[in-house]
Amino acid sequence: MEEIVIVGSGLTGLATAYWLKKDGFKIKVIESTSVTGGNIKTEKHQNFIFDTGPNSGLETTPLIKKLVDELQLNEEFIYANKSANKRYILRNNVLHPLPLNPVDFIFSKLFSTKGKFRILMEPFIGKSKDGYYQSVAEFVRRRLGQEFLDYAINPFVSGVFAGDPENLSVKSAFPKLYRLEELYGGLFKGMIKGAKERKRRAEKSKQSAAMFSFKNGMSVLTKSLSYFLKDEILLNHRVEKIVKDTNKFKVITNINNSLKEIEAKAILVTAPAYFTAEILKDLDGYLFNQLNSIYYPPVLVLNAIYRKEKIGQALDGFGFLIPEKENKSFLGAIWNDSIFPNRGDENFASFTIFVGGARQAEIFNKDLNEIINIVLFEFEGIMKINSQPESIKYKLWEKAIPQYTIGYIEKEFAMTAFEQRNQGIFLGGNYRGGISVGDCIKNSLIHYERLSNFVKNNLFIEYTREIN
Ligand SMILES: Cc1cc2nc3c(=O)[nH]c(=O)nc-3n(C[C@H](O)[C@H](O)[C@H](O)COP(=O)(O)OP(=O)(O)OC[C@H]3O[C@@H](n4cnc5c(N)ncnc54)[C@H](O)[C@@H]3O)c2cc1C
Repeated sequence: MEEIVIVGSGLTGLATAYWLKKDGFKIKVIESTSVTGGNIKTEKHQNFIFDTGPNSGLETTPLIKKLVDELQLNEEFIYANKSANKRYILRNNVLHPLPLNPVDFIFSKLFSTKGKFRILMEPFIGKSKDGYYQSVAEFVRRRLGQEFLDYAINPFVSGVFAGDPENLSVKSAFPKLYRLEELYGGLFKGMIKGAKERKRRAEKSKQSAAMFSFKNGMSVLTKSLSYFLKDEILLNHRVEKIVKDTNKFKVITNINNSLKEIEAKAILVTAPAYFTAEILKDLDGYLFNQLNSIYYPPVLVLNAIYRKEKIGQALDGFGFLIPEKENKSFLGAIWNDSIFPNRGDENFASFTIFVGGARQAEIFNKDLNEIINIVLFEFEGIMKINSQPESIKYKLWEKAIPQYTIGYIEKEFAMTAFEQRNQGIFLGGNYRGGISVGDCIKNSLIHYERLSNFVKNNLFIEYTREIN
C-alpha cells in the first residue's frame, strides 16, 4: 500500500510529491497522459522556445528559489529583462505604455484627464460590504471609475485569467486587492501602509516580484521535478474513481481499458475540476455539481515569427494587452524576444498571441484558419509589420484556466465540506487557492503539510489559502 497517491502530474502534483518524497513518504503520482507537466509545455518553434502554457512566473514565494536551488537549476533559471516591466495597452489603435509612476501617470495618454481625476478620488471611496458576490468590475468601477476598469483592469484580467472582470469574484480571484480595501479602507492607502509594513518585515510585494523563466522554457522545472520522481510517476494511468475502504482508499485507474487498484492512506487530487468532479462523483453529488460547473474558457496560443527588419514597432517591453472596448479579435501579445533570451535572434523575433478566453469564447465558432488569418492581420496592423510571418505554430487549449466567478465561495465551501466528510482525500489543483505558477508552488507546501500531518499524526488540517 502507498502512503500517499497524487492524482495528476501538473506543477501542483509534482511539487507536492517533491516535498513528500524528500520527507521519506512512500508515494505514487498518477498521470492520465503520456507526459508530465500538465499546463506547462515547452516546444521548439524554428530555433526558438515556445511555451504553449505559462511563459513565465512571478517570484512571489521563496519556495521557487528553494526548488531551483535544490534541483540544481541555477544555470537554467533566468529573470526577465528590465524592459519587460513596460507593458502596453491598446487605445484607439495606438499602443500606450501603462504608467508605472506618478509622473508617467500625469503625462500618460492612456487615460483622459477626467479618468485620471476619477482614479485620484480612490482614497475617498468607502468600503464595500461583501466581496464574494462582488465582481472585479463592480469593485474597480466603484473605487477607480469606468475608464480605469476599461483600460487597465479589463485587459489585465484577460492577461491573467483569460477572464472577464464582469464575471470574476473580486474576493476569490484577486483576494489581495480585496484585502487592501478590507484592511486599510482603500487601495492607495493599503499600498502605502502595506509597503511600510513589508519594509519593516523586509518582504517583497507581488507587484515587485521578479518575473522568471528558464533558458529552455518553463517545462525545465516540471521535467526536473519529474526526473526526481521518476520511480514514483505512473504515466498513462487515468484515475476513474476513488473508493473508501476501512482506514484506506482504493484508487481505481484505467490503463488501456484494463482497471487496476492502487491502495493509499491519503490522496491528493490535482486534476482539473471537471475531471476531479468525475473521479469523486460517487462520493459526493453536490461536490460534483460545484466542481463540474467551474468554467474553463478556450484559449488559442499562437506563436508567430517575423523578420525584425519588417517590424515598425519598437520591441521595448513585455508586449501589449487589448481592452474589450477596442473590439479586436485577440486578447494581446507577448514580445518574447525582448523578455528572455532564446526567444529570437538578431534577424527574427517571436511573438505569442492569445485569442479567446472568457471575453471572446464565441470566436471559436469560426474555422481555426480563418481565426488565425484575422488575428494575424490585426496583429500586423498594430505592430506595423509589413509582411507575413515566417512561420507560425499554435496550441488550442479547449479548457484553459478555471474562472473564479461570482459566488465561487460556494464551491470553496463544498470542497472544505467534502474534505471534512471524507478525511484523507484532499483537493488541490489550480481551481483552488490561485491559478498562477507561484500560487501552485505555494499551495504545494500547504498540501504537503496537510498530507504529512494526516498520514504521520492522524491530524486533519483544514485548507487555508495563503494571501500575502
Ligand atoms: C494557456 C495558459 C497560459 C498560462 N500562463 C500563465 C503564466 O504566464 N503565468 C502563470 O503564473 N500561470 C499561467 N498559467 C496558469 C498555470 O500554468 C496553471 O494554473 C498551472 O500550471 C496548473 O497546474 P496544476 O498542476 O494545478 O494543473 P494541471 O497543469 O492542469 O495538471 C493537472 C494534471 O492532471 C492530469 N489529469 C487529469 N485528469 C486525470 C485523471 N483522471 N487521472 C490522472 N491524471 C489526470 C492532467 O493530465 C494534468 O497533467 C497559464 C495556463 C494556461 C492554460
